[in-house]
Amino acid sequence: MPNSHPLYDVLIIGAGPVGLATAIGLQQRGINNILVIDQTREFRPVGQFVDLLPNGLKALRAIAKSAYEAMGIPKLDSETKPEATRFWYRKNLQGEVTHTIPLGFDYWQQKYGEGRISLPWFNLQTNLRNLLDPALIQANHRCINFAQTPHDVRVYCEKNLKMPSNPFAHWESSQESESTEKNQDIRPHKNTLTMEAKLVVAADGINSTLRQILYQNSALEPWAKPQYSGWSALGCLAVDPVPEDILDQLTRDYFQDQKVISLQNDALMAANPGQDSPRLVIFNQGRGSLGYLLHLPIALEKILHQLPITLLNLAIKELEKADFPKIITDLLCLTNLDNFFSRPYYLHPANPCTQFPLWSQKRVVLVGDAAHGMPPFSAQGANQGLEDAAYLVKAIATLVKHDQLDDLGAITEKFQAYENHRRPFMELMQTAALENHRWTETQWEIYGQQVYGRDI
Ligand SMILES: Cc1cc2nc3c(=O)[nH]c(=O)nc-3n(C[C@H](O)[C@H](O)[C@H](O)COP(=O)(O)OP(=O)(O)OC[C@H]3O[C@@H](n4cnc5c(N)ncnc54)[C@H](O)[C@@H]3O)c2cc1C
Repeated sequence: MPNSHPLYDVLIIGAGPVGLATAIGLQQRGINNILVIDQTREFRPVGQFVDLLPNGLKALRAIAKSAYEAMGIPKLDSETKPEATRFWYRKNLQGEVTHTIPLGFDYWQQKYGEGRISLPWFNLQTNLRNLLDPALIQANHRCINFAQTPHDVRVYCEKNLKMPSNPFAHWESSQESESTEKNQDIRPHKNTLTMEAKLVVAADGINSTLRQILYQNSALEPWAKPQYSGWSALGCLAVDPVPEDILDQLTRDYFQDQKVISLQNDALMAANPGQDSPRLVIFNQGRGSLGYLLHLPIALEKILHQLPITLLNLAIKELEKADFPKIITDLLCLTNLDNFFSRPYYLHPANPCTQFPLWSQKRVVLVGDAAHGMPPFSAQGANQGLEDAAYLVKAIATLVKHDQLDDLGAITEKFQAYENHRRPFMELMQTAALENHRWTETQWEIYGQQVYGRDI
């Protein structure tokens, strides 16, 4: 019987930054028999700000110049005046600066050969999406299963499914997702759609369905779902209005004329080297409005299924335990519980104790957060995913060029080389993300050269 399903060279599951960048890179190399599908019922503004750092921007440029240019990169020439340097300051509880992170483009450009930009996740997605023919991207297709045959992969999708929450990449308020869901007609499609592809790129984020299917009933099963990282975020993006006396004291003791600061009790951490301690980011939005994000090393059961008031009290107690001054807990006491949120951070460890390949099986390959999602403490999740995409598009382009989409040996070799190249670096990146709050300036300098200075 003739095959009634379309057969793609490459089917990409997930229209996040990594899936889209992969599609653009393939198209750039003349591979057009591709499709990107996403479970979202429509593309809409979700997600937090994402920093693209020099290594991520270099990866994007290697994927396609158009993708790099679509990010609205400032054009610098010898006539351009350097912008006034803005910083994110890390301070100890005495208000002394212990580390600074420059926020402008120029500093990074001069030091690492590429700049730094910051944009909302949705803008990143939209900028990339606009570079692809709309016919190549299909929303409202959730991959629910797949099966590998000797010749291709069958991918099964459903439409009109309720969106599961994504605790990692799309931060949105519960009100936002509820109101959107209410407007949706949530009736599962009667028929499961089948698609076929020679290769499948699983770019479906940290809660990857494909990863779970790939690992099920195998020695890798314990790593199918993301693991709790040991850290959670609790926060309120607008504490409003903050009384003048509190604002004045916070300005005098901590902000001075700065807008974003991170506070941690360095003395406590130095005295307890094996023990972690809370870190608090506070941002001054002007006009008497402050926001905060508290990163807590805490057991998952203390966070999950708790009332906002319980979590706020927990946050205050943990700050007191870590000797944060009363002015900080006074600020938290002003939180409007409607605006308070909590998010556990998960990760897919890049180094579980196993000798098996982790990131591919035959014709299916994992990229981005599906392969190595991690907490955002070093702003590298998307940047590393773009490095994956840059590597992988070249590997796939070589397979296509040599007409090897039917050569399972060649495919396995290419996907294994991708993992061998990328996974050791991801081990380093995950360790860095979880430990960099303890680093000295020398350690930051070495990391900067190793990560931002590299060019995939
Ligand atoms: C608070 C916070 C701040 C962050 N800051 C930074 C930063 O500054 N810099 C940085 O580099 N990274 C940052 N990150 C991490 C970054 O957002 C992620 O690493 C990045 O989005 C991963 O991209 P991805 O394409 O792999 O996955 P995602 O962005 O998660 O995209 C996955 C896509 O797949 C779709 N999908 C999921 N399941 C299915 C399915 N079964 N079928 C079809 N489609 C599916 C989803 O709808 C989604 O569109 C941050 C993350 C958080 C939470």
